[in-house]
Amino acid sequence: MKLLLVVTVALCAAHTEAQEQEGPRPPTPPPAWVAGRLEQLAPSSPESYFLLGEEVADLSPDMEQEALARRLFVLAYELDRARGPASRIAGSCCLALAGLERLEPTRRWLLAVAGAVDPRYARTDWSVAAAPLASDEVAFTAATALGQARAGEGIAARKLLSEPGVLPLLRSYERALSNTTATGAVFRVQKYASEWPCRTCDNKRVIPRTGPGGVEYRICPNCGGNPGPKLSEEELLVHLRFEAALLRGIQRSWSAQIAVDQAAPLRDPDPAAVAPTYGVDPALAYYRAGQWVARPGSTP
Ligand SMILES: [Zn+2]
Repeated sequence: MKLLLVVTVALCAAHTEAQEQEGPRPPTPPPAWVAGRLEQLAPSSPESYFLLGEEVADLSPDMEQEALARRLFVLAYELDRARGPASRIAGSCCLALAGLERLEPTRRWLLAVAGAVDPRYARTDWSVAAAPLASDEVAFTAATALGQARAGEGIAARKLLSEPGVLPLLRSYERALSNTTATGAVFRVQKYASEWPCRTCDNKRVIPRTGPGGVEYRICPNCGGNPGPKLSEEELLVHLRFEAALLRGIQRSWSAQIAVDQAAPLRDPDPAAVAPTYGVDPALAYYRAGQWVARPGSTP
C-alpha cells in the first residue's frame, strides 16, 4: 500500500512536469458520486448547489475540486439572488467563497459583498462596547493572525499574535469569536498557532525519502497532505464574521488602506460582480454529460 502511494506520488510529479511542457491538460472528470449529484441539481433549489459545493470543497486540496466547489457556490449565489431578496443562501455563498480565497483583497471584497446581500453579515451585533478598542493597524494584524492560524501558518500567526495590542484586542472581543458565550476561543487560536506548521513535513504536504531509484516523495503521514487545524463549519463562520467586523473599520481608514494594500483602489462590493469575477456563466446551471449547459434537455 505504501509502495503504491510512493509510486503514485512519483507518477503525479512526473505527470506535472510533462504537463508543464505540453501546456494545460483537459480537466479530469469529478468522482462518479459527485457527477451523479451534479446531474440531479436543479435551479429551483439553490441550497442543493451550496450543499454539494461544501461537500466538494471538503474533499481534498485539489485544484479541480476547488474550482468545482467555487462554481457551485457562484451558481447557488446567483440562483438565490434571482429568487428574490428574502433568502439567506447568497451571503453564505460569499463566505464560502471567501473561505476558499487565497487573495486577501478578494477575500475582504467577498466579505463586503456578503454584508451587501445579507444584513446578517453587515450588522455588528457583538455584545461588547461599540467604540473601537484598537487602532486599524492592530485590528488588521489581529485579523491576519487569525487567518494565518487557520491556514496552519503557525510561525507567522505566533509572530502576529505577539505584536502589541493584538492579544488584548482578541481577548476583549473573545465572546464574539466564539459560537457560544463561553470563553476559550483565543486559547484555541493560540493552540492552532502552536501546533502548526506540520512537524513532520513543515507544511510541504509530502516528505522526501531516498530509495533505490533516488528521492521519492510520500504523502506526509502526520497531516495526510493537508496541513492546518480542522475547524468546524460553525467555528469558521464565526471567525470570518469576526474578521469582517475587524476589517470593516479598516475599509474606512485611508492610512490603513495604504498599509494594507499599497493604496490599490477599494473595490465596490457590487453583488453583480461575483459571477464575472469567477468566470462563471450563471445561465449554465445544468450539468449534463460532464458539461454545464443552459437547459436540462440539451446535450453538450
Ligand atoms: Zn505534514
